[in-house]
Amino acid sequence: MGERKVLNKYYPPDFDPAKIPRRRQLKNQQMKVRMMLPMSIRCATCGTYIYKGTKFNSRKEDVIGETYLGIQIFRFYFKCTKCSAEVTIKTDPQNSDYIVESGASRNFEPWRGEEEAAEKEKKKRETEELGDAMKSLENRALDSKQDMDILSALEEMRSMKSRHATVSYDVMLETLKRSAYEKHLVLAVKMQVSQCKL
Ligand SMILES: [Zn+2]
Repeated sequence: MGERKVLNKYYPPDFDPAKIPRRRQLKNQQMKVRMMLPMSIRCATCGTYIYKGTKFNSRKEDVIGETYLGIQIFRFYFKCTKCSAEVTIKTDPQNSDYIVESGASRNFEPWRGEEEAAEKEKKKRETEELGDAMKSLENRALDSKQDMDILSALEEMRSMKSRHATVSYDVMLETLKRSAYEKHLVLAVKMQVSQCKL
């Protein structure tokens, strides 16, 4: 079995790598890539949901004339699992994500909206604070107030929990029993009083 794992190959002394004919490769040739769907999508032709993690064979190509900060954007072509309609997706380096380009629509993902809103808020704040010391001070004061509020709410919840924790089931049952007994007594007394009146 030793011959199966050869690490060094014999090169004859007259070997000239320049003499090897170059393989002509077309510019931006499409490449076959087996990949997994990075998000759940819905086919626009037949309406089938194709779930995240579905494996498929795709053709990969460079998106010509489209880069993000010098990073090449790729396009993947693949077929719907049911109707074989072509779907294309693109990489989105800006958001470290993918974009559905055609043939399908991306499923609604609630966490994405949240993330986007948070990002927008952060950006807005940064632009506001740029060269405005007063605004940044104000924002920081607001932040500390929010922290204090959260802390006090937490403290309140903790104290409430500890108050509840001191009541054991036995005490609770005892109290219930006693109150029921008292109610019973009161009823009996009332009945006796009404009988006396008669
Ligand atoms: Zn389809």
